[in-house]
Amino acid sequence: MTTLVANITAPDGYKVTLNTGLFINNDFVVGANTTDTINPSTGKVIASVQAAESKQVDLAVQAAHKAFYGGWKQSDGRKRARLMHKLADLVDRDSDDLAHLETLDNGKPLKNAQRDVAEVANYFRYFAGFADKLHGKVIDAQGKLSYTVHEPIGVCGAIIPWNFPIVMLSWKIAPAVCTGNCVVLKTSEMTPLSALKFAALVKEAGFPPGVINIITGYGHLAGDALARHMKVDKIAFTGSVATGRAIMKAAAESNLKKITLELGGKSPNIVFDDVENMDEAVFYSTFGIYYNAGQMCFATSRIYVQEGIYDKFVENFKKMAQAGKVGCPFDKATFQGPQISEAHLKKIMGYIDTGKKEGATCSLGGNRVGNTGYFLEPTVFTDVKPDATIMKEEIFGPVVAICKFKDTSDVIRQANDTPFGLAAAVFTSNITRAVTVSNALEAGSVWVNCTSVVNERNPFGGYKQSGFGRENSNYALDNYTQVKSIKINLSSKL
Ligand code: NAD
Repeated sequence: MTTLVANITAPDGYKVTLNTGLFINNDFVVGANTTDTINPSTGKVIASVQAAESKQVDLAVQAAHKAFYGGWKQSDGRKRARLMHKLADLVDRDSDDLAHLETLDNGKPLKNAQRDVAEVANYFRYFAGFADKLHGKVIDAQGKLSYTVHEPIGVCGAIIPWNFPIVMLSWKIAPAVCTGNCVVLKTSEMTPLSALKFAALVKEAGFPPGVINIITGYGHLAGDALARHMKVDKIAFTGSVATGRAIMKAAAESNLKKITLELGGKSPNIVFDDVENMDEAVFYSTFGIYYNAGQMCFATSRIYVQEGIYDKFVENFKKMAQAGKVGCPFDKATFQGPQISEAHLKKIMGYIDTGKKEGATCSLGGNRVGNTGYFLEPTVFTDVKPDATIMKEEIFGPVVAICKFKDTSDVIRQANDTPFGLAAAVFTSNITRAVTVSNALEAGSVWVNCTSVVNERNPFGGYKQSGFGRENSNYALDNYTQVKSIKINLSSKL
């Protein structure tokens, strides 16, 4: 008989027991296959988990479909909110389990994983608040009383990446279930563990079977089957542009399901020479690229520094980048853990080679750290030309491209000269400049005198090829509801 339990011990001695099955209809079940999940700090297998293919995807979708029409669609918002609050409490209760699994699987420092898990509880509580406040409008038009109702869409598929596994899960599941939808979420095949632990909490919280289903499996098998399923009404996706295109195609070739896409970026960070607090600008600029080992869709990976402060900024930036300890994510002093995989590390190293070949100066880092695991030095390229590959393509690692600029209109043109538009940052002490430049930047999020401010209360999403649809805040509700307009003829006699 297949064992669907793994006992895992982290390097700090912490022990977690985990169900390794696919979570379908509130049960952990076997998949078509298994997949090994690798610890990126050591390259060793952590656990083997069940992987779905089209048959298991169908089972999960049928369970969600049944739950939707079997009552969840019409459920009282207060009931949904209560369940979500209970789930958030359980996430808090088991935060150490979840954070340890996240650090083992993804490689992010434990303290960052703990912060991520706390955020997950916040997301569920925040969206629980909307569950009983989904109102339409009343419209009086030409003797007809019209009103709108906001109805759930149905079965929502969610496909998430490996960089913020448990946080991405909450971004997809919380707005979907608060609005009365049912969910089939597919984790990245590289980071399924925290989601499987979370799945057990879904059942414990008391969610009816089929409302939340969590599976893992490869993209081209499980992901594609979900994107093509005729009973999936919507897909919310975060990941690469190539996969985003594949999902649009699958939706077009199946049932024209609704889609929202969040596809990464090449976010500019503009530092003007009137910046009041250079230390703060340097802190946020390094944080904006090196946090999470640079594996952030919103990473501010292109820095434009005005000529008057360029040399000083670069000097301070390199000092701060060097100060961040690279190493074991369970070590409290570590700022930067490993990259997610050998293949991803090689891809980043390829960009570093290209940067050098194309003539940019590698002023700091550029090398692998140690022989075990997938660690990389924080890397700084300076005097990078606008058309350099490292200035244009998303590297998704701890590699920044810095260049000098002279005038404001030119830097805005350069910042916007990209197919992406996820985020941007501006550092200046001049309020007029801050507002003018923020307005001119083509990006879904603009940070002034800070970077990386992303939370449940602010809408998040892309312009251009960074995707479409907004996650977080009440804007996210629009992606999980459809508006029905009902018109009543009031012209009959009293
Ligand atoms: P990916 O797009 O291949 O994978 C993301 C998710 O999509 C995973 O769950 C994967 O299994 C699934 N998937 C893959 N192919 C699919 C398909 N044909 N149909 C349906 N689902 C499919 O991303 P990745 O391989 O994890 O990373 C590659 C690059 O993507 C990175 O280097 C980075 O540039 C980018 N990325 C962006 C984000 C982001 O937050 N926007 C996150 C991770 C990766």
